[in-house]
Amino acid sequence: METREKIIIIGGGFAGLQLAKSLNNKNKKVLVLDKVNHHMFQPLFYQVACGRIEPSNISFPFRKIFQASRNTQFRLTEVQKIIPEQNKVIADDAEFTYDKLIIATGCKTNFFGNKDLEKQAFGMKNTQEAISIRNHVLLTFEKLILEKRRSDDGNWNIVIVGSGPTGVELAGAFSEMKKEILPRDYPYMNFSQLEIILVSSTEKPLAVMSHESQDKSEQYLKDLGVRFMSGEVVTEYDGDKVHLKSGKTIPSNNVIWAAGVTGNVIEGFPSEKLVRNRYIVDRHNKIKGYDNIFAIGDIAYMETPKYPQGHPQVANVAIHQAKNLGKNFLRKKSEPWEEYEYKDQGSMATIGKHRAVVDLPFIKFQGLFAWYFWMFLHLMLILSVRNKLAIFFNWMWSYFNKDSSLRLIISPNVKNNTEQ
Ligand SMILES: Cc1cc2nc3c(=O)[nH]c(=O)nc-3n(C[C@H](O)[C@H](O)[C@H](O)COP(=O)(O)OP(=O)(O)OC[C@H]3O[C@@H](n4cnc5c(N)ncnc54)[C@H](O)[C@@H]3O)c2cc1C
Repeated sequence: METREKIIIIGGGFAGLQLAKSLNNKNKKVLVLDKVNHHMFQPLFYQVACGRIEPSNISFPFRKIFQASRNTQFRLTEVQKIIPEQNKVIADDAEFTYDKLIIATGCKTNFFGNKDLEKQAFGMKNTQEAISIRNHVLLTFEKLILEKRRSDDGNWNIVIVGSGPTGVELAGAFSEMKKEILPRDYPYMNFSQLEIILVSSTEKPLAVMSHESQDKSEQYLKDLGVRFMSGEVVTEYDGDKVHLKSGKTIPSNNVIWAAGVTGNVIEGFPSEKLVRNRYIVDRHNKIKGYDNIFAIGDIAYMETPKYPQGHPQVANVAIHQAKNLGKNFLRKKSEPWEEYEYKDQGSMATIGKHRAVVDLPFIKFQGLFAWYFWMFLHLMLILSVRNKLAIFFNWMWSYFNKDSSLRLIISPNVKNNTEQ
């Protein structure tokens, strides 16, 4: 007869994985459910999309992570519904019961209900999507060559919508690819007409960072030849042309949508438990009105005096909420639980080689040192020594050679392909 408390964690992202680690080999029975079989290091997706690093360098199979754990199990399944009254989770092909449930399902790309955009533009919220961007962009160049199309055909433009860290990093990386890699891969093509365009509804890039970082990143984008279109809102995209609210249009077959996210909410809770598609939680991450259901990370909405509109949806918050909850779960019954308090550790973005901006609570800096700082911190955060080394090697290789050899076009699953 099982006496240990049964804890189910839905989602093995930054929050869910950290919680599982905090409870590793403790007197609890932990089950992690995720719809993909690996933990994803999302901050480096953009490097996969640009062919700088391999997806495997930033993807970590859950079964490998939990191999040595005595109390943690993993199931690859998508949760469809929660029935709180029965302490039950309904997933694809299976049902599970729990004593405590933690929802750590993070976010998906928000196309704001625009179905055409959703169909035609690329999001970048999982490994598969990052690979799809890489495939699509590389295929565009291959098609151009085959079809002998004119190089001033604007359809090959790469348009990135949204100028937060993801948009800015993508724009910088594609611009470096245009300068340093494409002319070598396609020596008979003229890339002078290829535009990397960053469309932003705000006046400056990196609107959530300091003015110094905003100004500097705008300058870096300019230096790299990125066209920054500020104060513009995308209204439509049909696969060939981006339509802006101002009436302007941009020809492009390659549109990447980095302009917003919305929570991966699971059916089973009344709408008053949610704010802007996030579960309302108290300072212990408990969903209001339930004793044994919690939400952590991007999907949790916690109001505090310092953050009256909820916390920013960043990895730091996810990791620290998970650590705090893990500690609380392990307290003795008589001990009071600690409330979660976010300590802002700053933010950063890299726009290209030697070009990064860093805002720490006590200092802001940009340029070469910021770039080294960004690389060091990201390397430290990557799981496993092998992956750290692989990424470090790839970065050094591209640093000295201005190239990488990772531009594979990988097709989706095929079975019995007889057309070869
Ligand atoms: C491209 C990109 C770049 C980013 N860069 C930065 C950065 O530089 N710094 C920073 O701090 N933050 C960054 N972020 C944000 C950061 O990644 C998130 O804040 C963080 O991942 C949130 O962690 P989480 O655990 O809440 O969710 P996630 O890490 O998104 O994990 C959610 C997990 O839940 C799983 N899941 C979802 N729904 C279900 C379901 N129904 N059933 C089963 N499993 C499910 C998903 O497969 C996923 O594994 C970036 C995000 C993106 C997309």
